[in-house]
Amino acid sequence: MTNEIITHLGEDRKQYYNAVAPPIIQSSNFAFDTIEDLRNAISDELNSHIYTRGNNPTVEILRKKLAALEHAEDALVLSSGASAVAAAVMSNCKAGDHIVCVQKPYSWTQKLLTKFLHKFGVTHDFVDATDIQTIKAHIKSNSVILYLESPNSLSFEIQDLTACAQLAKQHGLITIIDNSYCTPLNQNPIDHGIDLVVHSGTKYLNGHSDVLNGVICGSHEMIRNIFNSSFMTLGMCISAHDASLIIRGLRTLPIRMERIEKTTQTVIAYLDHHEKVESILYPFHPSFKQYDLAKKQMRGCGGLFSIILKSKDKNKINDFVNRLDKFLMAVSWGGYESLKMPTLAFHDIPGVEDSPLPYNMVRLSIGLEDADYLIKNLEEALSVI
Ligand SMILES: *Cc1c(COP(=O)(O)O)cnc(C)c1O
Repeated sequence: MTNEIITHLGEDRKQYYNAVAPPIIQSSNFAFDTIEDLRNAISDELNSHIYTRGNNPTVEILRKKLAALEHAEDALVLSSGASAVAAAVMSNCKAGDHIVCVQKPYSWTQKLLTKFLHKFGVTHDFVDATDIQTIKAHIKSNSVILYLESPNSLSFEIQDLTACAQLAKQHGLITIIDNSYCTPLNQNPIDHGIDLVVHSGTKYLNGHSDVLNGVICGSHEMIRNIFNSSFMTLGMCISAHDASLIIRGLRTLPIRMERIEKTTQTVIAYLDHHEKVESILYPFHPSFKQYDLAKKQMRGCGGLFSIILKSKDKNKINDFVNRLDKFLMAVSWGGYESLKMPTLAFHDIPGVEDSPLPYNMVRLSIGLEDADYLIKNLEEALSVI
């Protein structure tokens, strides 16, 4: 099924000279022959071609593929993961409402609640969502959304998706999950009863570190609601050109994930029990606190994990990070290139509160390089500690 979706679904090649690659329909607007045609289109702007802020044929191909991959009825593609999160949340709350959100969500999701929606009278609680009873205890009479991120992208805590969906339904809350870490290949939250799935498609879905995009998947009704509110009002669309790049990225998603997961296992096997490494944070590592739940609800676990070094010497940690020069030091993750993100960078910044994460933690994102090449560099870097 995945092959069919990625290679063919949504592509009507007869419409464009049997071109194998879909055309980039670089047009802001679309013309109509009759008033009747225009009237019909306006009655369903989400599925018509009127104006590219709403729908564009190249973007539409991508929407169909992403919806199918997430087992959803429909999908929207947005200008970034942050806009996908914002559109999904903002379209489902109003002044006076309350949101229950996982602890340590993606940083801009956190700011959406604390700095932005706060101004419009929407309140929230961040809860330890590893325990369903804790979530339950924070649901109030005005709660409308349960916001999940499983695993999160820093310390990888997960939530029991089936239990969360059931609890939310009992209390009339909409469930939204950030599924960027897993991709639709490793986890389909809709199958667990979750309502809306969002992605930062900037990460694995595109996978080439060259396009920003976000995705929202859900029922026809929920997608239409988001389309008619935040999406169209705030102009959160993506260009046809970017959509064609993401379609190209998606073609190789399964082989990239397969390769990344295999390399990650080899790299983790090397780091495991290394004398300089205190522990490894990775949902599929047997030492992970929620290992059993991870194995139960995830089909695979990508290439993003953290190591905690035994050393607490900031100079040594600094030397290690500098020596690890085959891993680029950059934000984001999920691209072809391996990355390192030392928590130490978020400590000792004048005027900024230290990160709550330990400074001897380094997050790694494994790319498409050979395992041997990465391990050799890790070996060199660990030897300087
Ligand atoms: C990067 C990221 C986002 C935001 O996506 P952008 O495409 O950068 O806007 C949201 N959630 C997670 C888990 C992310 O890693």
